[in-house]
Amino acid sequence: MKLYFASGNDHKKKEMSRLLGGYTLVLPKEEGIAFDPEESGSNFIENAIIKAEALYSIVHQPVIADDSGLMVKALGGKPGVHTARYGEEKAGRPLSAEEKYMLLLKNMEGKEDRSAVFVTALCLILSDERKYIIQETCEGRIAEKPSGVNGFGYDPVFFIDEAGMIAAELPEGDKDLYSHRGKAARMMKMLIEKEDMR
Ligand code: IMP
Repeated sequence: MKLYFASGNDHKKKEMSRLLGGYTLVLPKEEGIAFDPEESGSNFIENAIIKAEALYSIVHQPVIADDSGLMVKALGGKPGVHTARYGEEKAGRPLSAEEKYMLLLKNMEGKEDRSAVFVTALCLILSDERKYIIQETCEGRIAEKPSGVNGFGYDPVFFIDEAGMIAAELPEGDKDLYSHRGKAARMMKMLIEKEDMR
């Protein structure tokens, strides 16, 4: 079963394909579809809907979209919906994942409360009328220094409470047990299977 994934992120595609097992996820760029909607929402759910609606309006076939980010308590919930572009406005250029998580560690210097939460919103559109939204979390804290080589994004500096390990230290696939995207995708899979995509 083919499901368009409203993203340009190959790492996310890999995770989502593993999580939704049985569905062939297709990124717009793989079919030459130009896709870069403005993520102008004020929260993850709004942005997931924007991405899903934008791609659905092009392909008119089942679409899934994800919007995610990191909310750090000591930073007043930042970077939040701006997680993907953290620090880039000030730098005036795109930053690598490592530059972003190193900036986060710098901004956390001297902060006692290092608690943080990863959030994922998923939006599934099956037809013009049939739409589903799920939002899930992964609780943890910002590590003192980076560790591990697996995963992507901020994984080297995110300690997952439930796992007792830094996300990037977890063997490939194990992160799914605890991650925000893992929890949301499992719920979504149950939904899709129940609906059987009709
Ligand atoms: P967006 O959902 O494409 O707007 O991007 C959210 C950003 O949050 C990504 O670019 C990553 O930097 C970060 N992010 C989301 N999920 C994870 C995760 O599971 N591990 C590490 N970083 C993540």
